[in-house]
Amino acid sequence: MKKMEMKGRRRFEGKVAIVTASTQGIGLSIAERLGLEGASVVISSRKQKNVDEAVEKLEKKGIQVLGVVCHVSNAQQRKDLIRKTVEKYGKIDVVVSNAAVNPTVDPLLQTQESILDKLWETNVKATVLLLQEAAPHLQKGSSVVLISSIAGFHPQAAMAMYGVTKTALLGLTKALAVEMAPDTRVNCVAPGFVPTYFAAYITKDEVVRKAAEDQTLLQRLGTPEDMAAATAFLASDDASYITGENLVVAGGIPSRL
Ligand code: NAP
Repeated sequence: MKKMEMKGRRRFEGKVAIVTASTQGIGLSIAERLGLEGASVVISSRKQKNVDEAVEKLEKKGIQVLGVVCHVSNAQQRKDLIRKTVEKYGKIDVVVSNAAVNPTVDPLLQTQESILDKLWETNVKATVLLLQEAAPHLQKGSSVVLISSIAGFHPQAAMAMYGVTKTALLGLTKALAVEMAPDTRVNCVAPGFVPTYFAAYITKDEVVRKAAEDQTLLQRLGTPEDMAAATAFLASDDASYITGENLVVAGGIPSRL
């Protein structure tokens, strides 16, 4: 969105938003978008240095930001994330669950049990556990957005179990929407290919990148800002009658299960 159009769009004035895995890439872009629209944002990731650098970047843009170290699979760090948020801001209005890992390119039938556990724990279970911590502080009219993936619709060979965890998030969105209604809406964004560190293996190689672009109708990769715009919409009151839905932001890549 152009700067002029952004002016006056302050949908998150007075709101408090937690975004996990938000020191770079899509998460950072979501935090920035929510912050520029008036939210006090709480960013986090595993490494203190990354947290500090991202806080500095957002503060330079005039955003009210708190940075906390939180590996989403670490129970104590999840508790700390929520406790520090509530200590500083007193409430939570938005939670964006964005963390995910893809530690293997092995075929499913050769993937070690420890890797299967890690994928499940980070990509799915940690979201539920974080929301258990956050729930007592979520306000009436609050909103949760889970970040899935186009890979959740058709898991590819080199990232099959990762894709399956992203499919699980589509179901988790529906289940949480039922359980958290009517005070909290729960929706999901499924990004297509976005050139971040996470997707470097797709987007750095010219041939693979072109193949990814060709899968889209719009003939381009997505940007972190595309994902942030969709997430901000679902988190905002513009989407106040939408819950339990999944929004595919993938330039037209087919997305049927
Ligand atoms: P990215 O640019 O590589 O950024 C990953 C972020 O997550 C970093 O801030 C990293 O910081 C943090 N992080 C990694 N593991 C974490 C953990 N266990 N706990 C907390 N923070 C952690 O990745 P991205 O492409 O933006 O991906 C963000 C989300 O979008 C993921 O859920 C991914 O599955 C989804 N997605 C991405 C694409 C794509 O093409 N990029 C497509 C579909 C879906 P630290 O290293 O400091 O922890």
